[in-house]
Amino acid sequence: MKNKTKWVYSFGAGSAEGDASMRNLLGGKGANLAEMASLGLPVPPGFTITTEVCSAFYENDRNHPAGLAEEVSTALAKVGDAVGMKFGDTSKPLLVSVRSGARASMPGMMDTVLNLGLTDETVKGLAKLSGDERFAYDSYRRFIQMYSDVVLEVDHHSFEEQLETYKEEHDYFLDTEMTADDWKSVIDGYKKVVGDELGRPFPQDPEEQLWGAINAVFGSWRNDRADTYRRLHNIPESWGTAVNVQAMVFGNMGETSATGVAFTRDPSTGDNHYYGEFLINAQGEDVVAGIRTPQALTKRAREAMSDDAPSMEEAMPKAYAELAAVFDRLEKHYRDMQDIEFTIQNEKLWMLQTRNGKRTAKAALKIAVDLCEEGLLTQEEAVMRVDPHSLDQLLHPSLDPDAPRDQVLSGLPASPGAAVGEVVFNSDEAERLAQEGKAVILVRVETSPEDIHGMHAAKGIVTARGGMTSHAAVVARGMGRPCVCGAGDLKIDKSEEFFTVAGRQVKKGETVTIDGAAGRVYAGAVPTVQPELSGDFGKLMGWADAVRRMKVRANAETPHDARVARDFGAEGIGLCRTEHMFFETDRIIAVREMILAEDKKGREAALAKLLPMQRSDFEELFRVMSGLPVTIRLLDPPLHEFLPHSDDEIEEVAKSSGMDAQKLKDRAHKLHEFNPMLGHRGCRLGVSYPEIYEMQARAIMEAACAVAKETGEKVTPEIMIPLVAKREELTMLKARVDAVALAVLKENNTKLDYLVGTMIELPRAALTADEIAKDAEFFSFGTNDLTQTTFGLSRDDSAAFLPDYLRQGIFERDPFVTLDPDGVGALIKIAAEKGRATRPDIKLGICGEHGGDPDSIRFVEGAGLDYVSCSPYRTPIARLAAAQAKLEKSQGGSTA
Ligand code: PEP
Ligand code: MG
Repeated sequence: MKNKTKWVYSFGAGSAEGDASMRNLLGGKGANLAEMASLGLPVPPGFTITTEVCSAFYENDRNHPAGLAEEVSTALAKVGDAVGMKFGDTSKPLLVSVRSGARASMPGMMDTVLNLGLTDETVKGLAKLSGDERFAYDSYRRFIQMYSDVVLEVDHHSFEEQLETYKEEHDYFLDTEMTADDWKSVIDGYKKVVGDELGRPFPQDPEEQLWGAINAVFGSWRNDRADTYRRLHNIPESWGTAVNVQAMVFGNMGETSATGVAFTRDPSTGDNHYYGEFLINAQGEDVVAGIRTPQALTKRAREAMSDDAPSMEEAMPKAYAELAAVFDRLEKHYRDMQDIEFTIQNEKLWMLQTRNGKRTAKAALKIAVDLCEEGLLTQEEAVMRVDPHSLDQLLHPSLDPDAPRDQVLSGLPASPGAAVGEVVFNSDEAERLAQEGKAVILVRVETSPEDIHGMHAAKGIVTARGGMTSHAAVVARGMGRPCVCGAGDLKIDKSEEFFTVAGRQVKKGETVTIDGAAGRVYAGAVPTVQPELSGDFGKLMGWADAVRRMKVRANAETPHDARVARDFGAEGIGLCRTEHMFFETDRIIAVREMILAEDKKGREAALAKLLPMQRSDFEELFRVMSGLPVTIRLLDPPLHEFLPHSDDEIEEVAKSSGMDAQKLKDRAHKLHEFNPMLGHRGCRLGVSYPEIYEMQARAIMEAACAVAKETGEKVTPEIMIPLVAKREELTMLKARVDAVALAVLKENNTKLDYLVGTMIELPRAALTADEIAKDAEFFSFGTNDLTQTTFGLSRDDSAAFLPDYLRQGIFERDPFVTLDPDGVGALIKIAAEKGRATRPDIKLGICGEHGGDPDSIRFVEGAGLDYVSCSPYRTPIARLAAAQAKLEKSQGGSTA
């Protein structure tokens, strides 16, 4: 008989059908609940409906696969047996929670329903059973509210309004003042809202409720906020979500009950202290929603915050001790920091979730290094634990401690880092202004998953409400956005034109600076300082360097950038774009003179002005890089970037060159190209005007001789010719460069090695690399142009329509960000192979933007190139990514 697909996996009471390795099938939450149950930890019994059901649901026009109903029914009965209750029973009603749980964690993006199974009848049973009528009806009204919002799509504001009005009429301030009878009245009101809106009553059949909730969870996999989250985190839609159905445990059963969330270490700093929050007499969603301010988990944290409300350690010492033991057990088991949800029901601890906790880059580093030093991880495992992208957060500046500052506001230090921007109050506007290139700080009372696009667009986030585990805090940390939350004094005016703090007004559009590590907001732009790169960072990078095979170089042309690159561990310069050395005003005039010169004589006059500038720039670069290789690319200016546009610019060139302004204008007009990226650039310029490359070769070699003499160090220039398509281009230009180089060496009576190589930026060059390698001593893949020319996709214009391609899944990634392995990558492999066939020791590297992108680096490691080169700030990212790629490859996991 053919094996039937199993749709449902049970867990609880010391055993489980699944385990942590089954996260693809059971989702992260389900797999970890199963694992915890098997470990014998106190997990309320339940079952997981697999992600395959979600896929089947969508493939089958939102219908369930055959056999699912029976499996759910059997599993549900099993849960009832485990707790001595029965679903729908009026005297011993089993209540369940229904939660989503995808393969990758998507906090707050999908739907949850608690207390499911309550009806007008079963609520009476619950009241009797618990001996607490108030609790039973509080649970029922919570259920109606949540179920109506999530499943029936009745706007939750209607319920909130009802409750507020009721409390006002009865002079109540807190929900805890409400009695059982009060809740009964509110419930009648709630049911009326549902009836009026839907034209049918609130469902009283627990079975109907259950399937409604299951379908809503599957449905929420494709809601807008989940879609956005998936896009931002590269989570494929095909993965689907699992559904977890679990016996309810109650944190809202009075003063001996509570609910909380915790991290086994501080997710912000990585410090090895339990870290979390809890609320007495509350249900799970109350903590995350940020409506009531939670209490600290530990005495230590409470004292650090000078909080008066007792910590869990003090208020519930027995449950706390049990929880602490579970923390240690889970950390050792998973060998990672855990993010945990728990509930205490009448002093008994229940574990509702564990997962590897999200953390800031700083915390990720510290935790990886600490776990290694605690003996839980090897150095190589520690290297694999830090996401290279996240280093970005650490490599950016923090506030200059000596700079004067004018504090406007203080709140919780929810996500570290400094950000400067203008104040905006809503997410759509934040996104719009960011698209216009403005830096914005999003200021909100609180954030919800609907704000995800605004938070992503903003440089930083400030909220008035919510604790360290509120939506704003969790999401901001995940995105690496500095965030200050729970700034209680912040009042946002209804008009959303300004906010006030203690009488002080800050208007929309005003610039503020936030310090997420200190939880402070300052008026104006406060100067920032560079990050400290020693400590844990240095250790982990050292471990990464020890396993890395590929070298990491930087793309840099100024001495400043070269210094930053060296500080960040670059092992040479992989690309010095010489045309970028001319961006300053006095220099660009000389370049324009050269480009616009009518004849060789005019060009030579301009070149004579440029030579000393170039020489001294190169000297400085060689000095900074003291002995490390420096690849200097000869001029490659797409003409449109350099031609003068305005009359003033023409006038400047006329003055400097003595040429007639009108003639200059005509010449600029003549040089105008329709498609400059495929125009007179790269080596084509050298073919037309070889004296340009000769001047540059002279400047490079004279600088090399001077610095070699001055420092006694080895200087190895690598002279690179761009945009070669045919070997003949290179043959001709290399001959010119060699002639100048030999002449300079002779003039200086110096011996010095230099290389001449080429960029591979055109498909033709890649396909004929064996020919080209006869002249080229190295190849550097210019993957920006190679992507442009392979796809026939303009670097300058494609941003306008690429989003359509991404949205419709034609491209999974922007090919200018992450290397296309199948097309561009195939060309790289062909070129590398052919190049090596001709010249076995040919040096191979990549210097397009992809050189700093971890996924592209993984490909480059797989293709066996010698180095990657990227912008200076990305050098550490590349070092770590190259180490991880090497480790993955040696474990057989390479994608190339
Ligand atoms: C490239 O094309 O990848 C490259 C590095 O050169 P540029 O970006 O200067 O064209
Ligand atoms: Mg290029």
